[in-house]
Amino acid sequence: MSQVATTKVAKTKENLKLCQCMKCPTYTFMCKMKNMPGLMVDMMSDIGKKEHMEAMYCAFDKSKCIDEEKGCICMTCALYKKYNLDRARPINIASAAGGTANPC
Ligand code: SF4
Repeated sequence: MSQVATTKVAKTKENLKLCQCMKCPTYTFMCKMKNMPGLMVDMMSDIGKKEHMEAMYCAFDKSKCIDEEKGCICMTCALYKKYNLDRARPINIASAAGGTANPC
């Protein structure tokens, strides 16, 4: 049985800079294009008060754009190491890290 992460990923701009979600194969090109304008606005605001972002899925809730998992790169992400997220799949990372559902 796998261990469950207990550290909640902080919703900070510092962490957002480390986020690798944009490189994830599950985050489709169309989703990226659709969400880019909103992300730019989000990045200029206090993301600690945001309930939802289409990025850093281990800290936020489920994507409203992604509907099919096509792979996961979380294990290569600095946040995965920083917060000791010890599960490979984002569905588990999100739940363990405080997210409400699977991002991908
Ligand atoms: S650990 Fe995974 S979900 Fe979290 S920011 Fe990195 S790639 Fe995204």
